[in-house]
Parts: sequence; structure tokens; C-alpha cells
Amino acid sequence: MPAPRFDNSYARLPDGFHAPAPPTPSPSPEIIRLNEPLAATLGLDVDWLRMKAGVDLFSGCKMPESAEPIAMAYAGHQFGGWSPRLGDGRASLIGELVGIDGHRYDLQLKGSGRTRFSRGGDGKAVLGPVMREYIVSEAMTALGVPSTRALAAVTTGEAVLRRHGLEPGAVLTRIAHSHVRVGTFQYLAARGDDAAVQTLADYVIERHFPNVAEQEHRYRVLVESIIQRQADLIAHWMALGFIHGVMNTDNMQVVGETIDYGPCAFMDIFHPQKTFSSIDHHGRYAWRNQPTIAMWNLSRLAETLLALLGKDETDAIAWAESAIGAFGPRFNSQLSDRFRAKLGLLDDQPGHSELIEATFVALTEGQADMTLFFRHLTQVAAGEQETELRDLFADRRIADTWLARWRRQLEADQSDLEERVAKMRQHNPVFIPRNHRIEEAIAAGNRGDYAPFHRLVDVLAKPFDEQPDDADLERPPEPHEVVEQTFCGT
Ligand code: AMP
Ligand code: MG
Repeated sequence: MPAPRFDNSYARLPDGFHAPAPPTPSPSPEIIRLNEPLAATLGLDVDWLRMKAGVDLFSGCKMPESAEPIAMAYAGHQFGGWSPRLGDGRASLIGELVGIDGHRYDLQLKGSGRTRFSRGGDGKAVLGPVMREYIVSEAMTALGVPSTRALAAVTTGEAVLRRHGLEPGAVLTRIAHSHVRVGTFQYLAARGDDAAVQTLADYVIERHFPNVAEQEHRYRVLVESIIQRQADLIAHWMALGFIHGVMNTDNMQVVGETIDYGPCAFMDIFHPQKTFSSIDHHGRYAWRNQPTIAMWNLSRLAETLLALLGKDETDAIAWAESAIGAFGPRFNSQLSDRFRAKLGLLDDQPGHSELIEATFVALTEGQADMTLFFRHLTQVAAGEQETELRDLFADRRIADTWLARWRRQLEADQSDLEERVAKMRQHNPVFIPRNHRIEEAIAAGNRGDYAPFHRLVDVLAKPFDEQPDDADLERPPEPHEVVEQTFCGT
């Protein structure tokens, strides 16, 4: 049974990019969950992972020979404030694997002890946030949203001190196409090291955007590609009611995967200004602000690359401004496509964007559950009764006015009914990781009962499928179950 064979391209970059970060061994680790299908796509031997060697890897106790654990250096704007030196303070990039799909993946332990970048932190993670990231990152993947993934979750056998007292220590094994962030570029640029910025840009091109390498203005095309992926990603989040919660530049990865599931949450009742994060006092990262923030972050990225983007600074700035300017139209068309599909409007008819805006208003005024609204709308489109949909609204007259308008728009739509319903089913999930269910699973996990966690992960692996035995997981929270705040868990 072969051990994983890592090939570590990031570790081969110059010293300033990273620091050695051997994980701190856990005292008595136990596996909570191993993601076997993911392990298989990474070309890992599941039998090997199931042996002691696997636990040793996931808990930082003993590394395979080819591992070269490093902490990546990065900086970041956190809530708009600049931190020149963040870096992996509680994570270690163990190595890279080439999957059976031919792509290269990072295998990172999150919560594996202090590194050179830990500052005042303990370098550890606790069970709750590890379970949250496992549940949500895997659910995002199943929902079709680009995301980092969870390969394994282990408890360490250690108690870790957090805000509310001692909590069980845990480590998440995270898989990503890479962990290069906007903040990684910022870190090198802030040190005034233009050569290093170019090295990183070349690395990202070679690893993630190989088609760009041949282009005449390769760095411009790189920036355009990153902008496009972010626009698509944020539109995808918003169509599902996802609020990232901590879109700092160090939490925006350049490949376009969702990363860092700290205080993230899906909305139950729709509201454009919804936030969950306990530290987001001014709604900076609210649902509707996410594209604006993404653009702001992308401007910070472009600034780091200015020397590579034009023949002189004026030229580079002018180009960068127009490139960032392309975010808006791209995002708007993506968002509109997604909501049109959710509403069952397949033909390109006038009036769509007005109807989409009217939908946001009706959902807000009616205090309706976003996911259930689109799920029941799919059923209504298929010819079922409107009762359940109307009952979602605090005032049913809002639903009726909206439904009349939607029906008028549908009449103009020439698309086939079956095709329409199929499209709506693809875009309107039955299950999302609802916050109160995540909290419930975490509370049980903290008592040593992982059954609710496993059930949630299993059901969310098929979020678009009806699963009648688990229909209780579709339900929004009762008033006493509502989770108002989420925490970073640091
Ligand atoms: P995050 O809020 O997870 O995006 O983390 C922001 C920064 O704080 C990153 O540099 C992390 O590595 C660092 N950090 C978060 N939690 C800890 C911890 N428990 N120990 C050390 N560093 C941490
Ligand atoms: Mg982070």
C-alpha cells in the first residue's frame, strides 16, 4: 500500500515565499470523517489512509517522506485595514498531489500548530469550525460552486481554549487547487520585490492558467482571467444565498475557489443586507455588497502587478481600471443568467432584470425563505399548487402580486415546459447547509456524537435531489432555532 507521493512546486519557490512549518503532533488523534471519493480522485490509496499512517498524516504526527511542510507567506486587507504580514499562522501546506484528473492539488493541514506566522495565536483549530468548514465546503462543491474541499477531519485529543472556554482540538485536511491569494501578491509587492511578484505571477500562470502563457500580454490576460473567475464565483454564491462573511484580500484565492469558511452562512429569510459574522459590524460583507468588495480586492491585486501591466505606470493604471471595469458587466450577466434560470425564464425576453429586482423586493418585504421560495416555485412551474409558496410570505398579497407578474413574464417565454422545470431543478437546490443544522451538528459533535454531522454531510452531497427520509433538513429554523451570528473560530 503506497504512501502519498507529494511533488512540491510551491516549496521550490524562493525562501521569502514560505517558511518551514512542521506540524505539531496531536496527542491522541481520532478520525471523524475521511472523504473517500475525494481521496480516490486525488489518486490516494484509501486503504493506506485508513491505517495508522493516515491518522498520522491528518493529525500532523508523522509525515510521508515526500512531504515538505511549509507555511505560506501572505499579507492582506482585513475589513479594509492593511496587515503587511499574515501568512499561514495555523496551517501547514504538507505537499502537492497530482490527481487522476491530471490537476495539481495542495494538501494542507489547518489547525496543526504554530508557525513563523502565528503572531499571538496558538496555531490550533477547534472542532466546531472544522466541522463547519467540512460541511459547507463539501456542500458548496456538490452545489456546483468552485470551492476548496475537505479530505479529512480529526480530533487531536487536546482541549483548546477559546472565547467560551475549552473546546476539543481538531485538524481539517484541506484540498485546494492552490492557496495563492490576493494577499500573497500583496505580501511580495509590499516588500518592494518586483522580481518576486513576477515569479509568483509566472507560477500562477504555469500552474493554473497554462493557456495564458503563450499570449502576448500574459499578465494582462492573467488579471482578466482572475477578474472573470471572481465575477462568476460571486454571482454563483449570491444565487444560492451564500454570504462569505470575511472577504478580506487574504481570503480571496486567485484560482477562483471559495476559501476560508469562517463566519460564512446561507441566508434563510432573504434580505440583501444580511450578514452573519459577529465582527462585521457595518455590513461590509453583506450579501449584496459582495461584488463591490470583490472589485475592491481585485483592484488591490492589480496594483501589485502594475509594473507588468503596461509600458509605463500611466498606461498600466489606465489598463487596470478598464479591466476592473469589466467586472461589473460580467458579474451582472452571470447573476442575471442564474436568476433567470431559477425563475424558469429561458428565453431572452425584455423585462427579466426588472422581474429579478422585483423578486428581491418581494422576498424582502414578504420575509420569505430564499431556498424554499425557489424550490416551491419550481413545483409551481411544474403545475403544483401555490399554497406552500404563498405560505412562505408574511403577507400573502405580496406573493400574489409577484406571482401574477411572474406568470405574465412566463407567458412571453416560448421555452418548453419540461425543459423549464428541468432547468429550475438544476438551479434551485432542495437542501442547503442551514445554519441551525450546522450548529446542531457541532453541538452534538462537541458531545462526541457525530451522527448529525455525518447525516448532514451525506444529504448535502446530493443537494438537488429529493430525499424524503431527510426532509426535516429542508426546513428553515423555527424562531427559537435561528442562528443570528457566526464566528471566525480563531
Ligand atoms: P482567518 O480569519 O482564518 O482568515 O485568519 C486570518 C489570519 O489569522 C491568518 O494569518 C491566520 O493564519 C491567522 N490565524 C487565525 N487563527 C489563528 C490561530 N489560532 N493561531 C495562529 N494564527 C491564526
Ligand atoms: Mg484566512
